[in-house]
Amino acid sequence: MQIEEIWNKSLLLIKEKVGENIFDLWFSPMKMVQIKDGQVTIEVPNRFYKEWIEDYHPNLIAEAVESTIASPVEVKYRFATKEDAALKKMDAKLENRRTKLARKGIYLNPRYTFEGFVVGPSNQFAQAAAKAVSEMPGKVYNPLFIYGGVGLGKTHLISAVGNRVIDKRSDYNVLYVSAEQFTNEVVSAIRHSRTEELKAKYRNLDLLLVDDVQFIENKTTTQEELFHTLNALYERQRQIVLSSDRPPKEIRAVTDRLRSRFSMGLIADIQPPELETKLAIIHKKAEENRMKLPDDVAYYVASKIKSNIRDIEGCLIRLGAHSSLTGSPINLSMAKTILRDFIRDEDRPLTVEFILKTVAEYFGIRLQDIKARKRTKEIAIPRQIAMYLSRELTQASLSDIGKNVGGKDHATVIYACKQIEGKRAKDENFNRMIENLIEKIKP
Ligand code: ADP
Ligand code: MG
Repeated sequence: MQIEEIWNKSLLLIKEKVGENIFDLWFSPMKMVQIKDGQVTIEVPNRFYKEWIEDYHPNLIAEAVESTIASPVEVKYRFATKEDAALKKMDAKLENRRTKLARKGIYLNPRYTFEGFVVGPSNQFAQAAAKAVSEMPGKVYNPLFIYGGVGLGKTHLISAVGNRVIDKRSDYNVLYVSAEQFTNEVVSAIRHSRTEELKAKYRNLDLLLVDDVQFIENKTTTQEELFHTLNALYERQRQIVLSSDRPPKEIRAVTDRLRSRFSMGLIADIQPPELETKLAIIHKKAEENRMKLPDDVAYYVASKIKSNIRDIEGCLIRLGAHSSLTGSPINLSMAKTILRDFIRDEDRPLTVEFILKTVAEYFGIRLQDIKARKRTKEIAIPRQIAMYLSRELTQASLSDIGKNVGGKDHATVIYACKQIEGKRAKDENFNRMIENLIEKIKP
C-alpha cells in the first residue's frame, strides 16, 4: 500500500470514531509523511494539535493505522511550521516527563501544574486547598474533594497535586486514575480472580487521585472496592484527592457510607470563571505558546465563551493553527470568521441546525446521521434530544423541526418532547446531561 492509501484508510476509521465535526477540525489538517520500521510520522500544523491529540485521543491514530496495515506502529509527530526554539525545548521536557511517569505506570499530564494554573476568585479556594494538600499529603484535608462543571479545571488541579508531590517526594507512590478506569479495573479483577492484586495496587499508595468520581453512581461493586480502598489509605494517613462534577450530597445512588467518606475531609468547589480570570487564562495560554494575541481578540473570546475553559483553549488552538498555516497574524476580523462555527453569535437567532450540530458533537455521532432517516438505537435518543431542544430553544415550528431530522411529522416531534421531559423528571443524570447541553447551546 502507498502511504497516501494507508493514511486515507486510517482517516476513514478515525472519522467514524470521532464524528465529522471533530474530524474536520482536528484530523483533516494532518498528513502522514513517513512510515518506516513500525514508526509512523504524522505532520500536524503545530504543537497545539499534538497536545490536543495526546490529551483526548492518545491512541486513536496508532490504532487506526494498525488496523489498516495489520501490524503495530508507534506514532511520532512533526510540525508543519517552524518551531520556536524555546517552545521546542519545553516540549521535549514535557515529553520526557510524560514518558518517565508513564514508565512508572503514572498517567499524569505533565502540563497540568500549579504554575500553569491561573488563580481567580472562582477557583482560589480549590487551588489553595490543593496546594496545601500537595505540601503536606495526608496531614491536612483528607480526602480533598473538588467539584465543579465541565472544563473548569478539575483534572488540571488534581493532576497538579500529583505532579507537585512527585517532584518533591520521589519515593512517594502516586496514582492518578479516572473513576471510569477504576471501574474497569475492578470489573476485570473480579472476572479474572485478581482482586488481591488490585488491593495491593491501590491500598499501598501514598497519594491516590481519582478523577470524575461521579462515574461510580449505580455501580455497587466498584463503590464497595473504592470505599475499602479509601478507608485503608485514610487509616494510614495517605492522601486521597477526588474530583467530581457535583458535590457529594448530589451524587445519587452511592452508598451512604461512601458518600460520607467523600465528605469527611474538605470539599472545595470551582465556579465558572469571571471575565477577568478568563482573560488572564487566555493571555497565559497565548504566552505559553508564543502566540501573538491582540487584546481585542482576547476580549472577544473571553466574552463569547461563557465558562468552559476547554472551549476557550479550543478557540485559541483554531486561531493559532489558522495563523501559522496562512502566515498571517491574528486579528479581530480573522477571529470572527475563524471562530464563527465555534462561537455562537448572540445577535443571530439560534437555529435548529446549530442545535443538531451541537447534539451530534456531544454524542460523538455524525450530523448527517441525526438528520437522516436512519433508525438505530444510538441515534434515536440524541435525535429526540435534538427535537426537544429545538422546540424549547428556537422559534422553529414543529413541522420545521421534524423536517430537519429525517422528515418526521409534528406528532413525532411532540412525542419526542414528551419522552425527554419524562426522562428529565425521572433521571437526575439525564437531566444534568440536558442542562449541560443547554449550557453549550445557549451560554
Ligand atoms: P475539567 O476536568 O474540570 O473538565 P480540565 O481540568 O480538563 O477541566 O480543564 C480544561 C482545560 O482548561 C485544561 O486544558 C486546563 O489546563 C485548562 N484550565 C482550566 N482551568 C484553568 C486555569 N485556572 N488556569 C489555566 N488553565 C486552566
Ligand atoms: Mg476532567
